[in-house]
Amino acid sequence: MLKDFARKIYGNFIVMRHLSGQKRVPYLPQEKWQALRDARVRAMVRHAAATVPHYRDLFRTEGIDPHEIRSATDLDRLPLLDKATIWQAPQRFLSESYNVKNALPLVTSGSAGKPLTVYHDHDSLLANIAFGEREREVLAQLCGRGVRWREVLLLYTGSTFGKVLKFYQQATFIPLRPDRLFLSLADPIEQVVEAINRFRPDVIIGYSGYLEMLFRTLAARSMQMHLPRLVVYGGEAMTEPGREFIRERFGVTLTSLYNAVESFKIGFACEVGNGYHLHADLCHVKLVDSNGKTVADGEKGEVVISNLVNRATVLLNYRLGDVASRVNRKCACGRTLPLLGELEGRLEDIIVLPDGSFVHPLAIWGVFKGKPEVLRYQLIQHATDRFELRLVTTDPQTYQCLLPTILEEFRLLLGNSANIEVNYYQDLKAQGPGKFRAVISACHKNTA
Ligand SMILES: [Zn+2]
Repeated sequence: MLKDFARKIYGNFIVMRHLSGQKRVPYLPQEKWQALRDARVRAMVRHAAATVPHYRDLFRTEGIDPHEIRSATDLDRLPLLDKATIWQAPQRFLSESYNVKNALPLVTSGSAGKPLTVYHDHDSLLANIAFGEREREVLAQLCGRGVRWREVLLLYTGSTFGKVLKFYQQATFIPLRPDRLFLSLADPIEQVVEAINRFRPDVIIGYSGYLEMLFRTLAARSMQMHLPRLVVYGGEAMTEPGREFIRERFGVTLTSLYNAVESFKIGFACEVGNGYHLHADLCHVKLVDSNGKTVADGEKGEVVISNLVNRATVLLNYRLGDVASRVNRKCACGRTLPLLGELEGRLEDIIVLPDGSFVHPLAIWGVFKGKPEVLRYQLIQHATDRFELRLVTTDPQTYQCLLPTILEEFRLLLGNSANIEVNYYQDLKAQGPGKFRAVISACHKNTA
C-alpha cells in the first residue's frame, strides 16, 4: 500500500518536472528547440555508449568518439539501423541499466509481418504525459471543449495505448482527464456504433484504416451514429478520399497524430492541418533515399528516427519505414517546430467480407501475436470469400501443430463460409518495391 503510494508520488513528480514550459516548446525560436534537441542527443549518445551493447561495440569498431557527437547532424555519422538488425539480437539494443522492473515491453504491430519488442523506461513514459500537452492544445482547440471532452478510443486487445494507460493508472495520481471509453475494433460494427451512441463522445480516436471503413459502412448501410466533433487518427496514413469523405459527408473535423511504438511522440497535425509538426527535440527525424542519403526539402524519403527520450531500447538512426517529405515553410499556426508533409505510411489493406463487415489488419495480427513460433505471415484476399494465408514458422512440424488452432481463429474472424488456403513458407519477402505488407486485399474498394 505504502509502496504503491510512494510510487505514485514519484510518478507525479516526474510528470510535473517535465510539464513546465511544454505548451511553449512548439512556439520557441528555432535555435531554442534545436538547443533542447542537441542536449538530448548528447545525453542519449553518452548513455548508449556507456550502457547499450550494440552502440558500445559500434563506437569501438568504427572508432567513433561518442563525445564528438554533439548535435542531431552528427548522428549522420552512425549507420542506418533497420528492423532486420534488431530482430537478430533485440537484447543488444536494450540498455543494461533497464530490465522488466523499470521498463515496459511494447510490441510493434505486425505491419512488417514480424513484430518487434521495444522496451520503454518508466521515466520516459511518465515524461510523455507532459509532452502530450503540445498535442492536447490542438485537440482542445479543434473540439472546442476546453480540457473536458468525452473520448472514445477504438483499440484492439492488448494494444500499446491500453498497456501504457494501465501503467499510468498504476504509476501516477493523474486522473484520466477526458472521460474515456475503450472499444475493441474486433467487435462487430453494430456493437461499436451502439456503444458510441450511448456514450456520445466529442472525440473519437483510432486507426485511420478502421475509422475510414467505419464511416464508409455508416453511409453504405444508412446506420445512425452519434457524430463526434473531432476524429483523431494515427497508426497509419489515411487516404485523401477517406478524409474528404468523412469531412464532407459527415461534417466531422479530422486531425492526426504521428507516433509509433519505437517513438511515442514523432509529430502532430495542428489546427491549420498541413502535415505534421515534428516533436523535433524529442525525436529527431531525417528523410533518406534508397542509398541512405538525406533527400532535399519537398522530396519524398524514408522516415529515419532517433528517439531522444526512451533510454531502455535505444534506437538511433532507425528506419521506421514510412515515406514522407519535408515542408520548408512557416506554418500559419505560429508554431516553429519543423513540418513534415503528407505521410505515406504503413498502408495495409482492410478485409471486406461478403456481408459488408470488415476485418482490420490488427485483428489479423491479433491471431499471431501470442504465437512466437509464427515468424512471419501474409494474408491475401483473392475474392471476398477466398483467402490465402502464408506462414513462416520455426519449422514444418510447428506449422502442422499450429495449423488447426490458427484455422479455427481465422474462421471466427473471416466467417465459416470463407475458403482459406494455408501454405507453409520458408521465408516471405516484399513483392516489388516498398514495405512488406502482411495483409493484402485484391478486392480492395477503400477509395471507391
Ligand atoms: Zn501549424
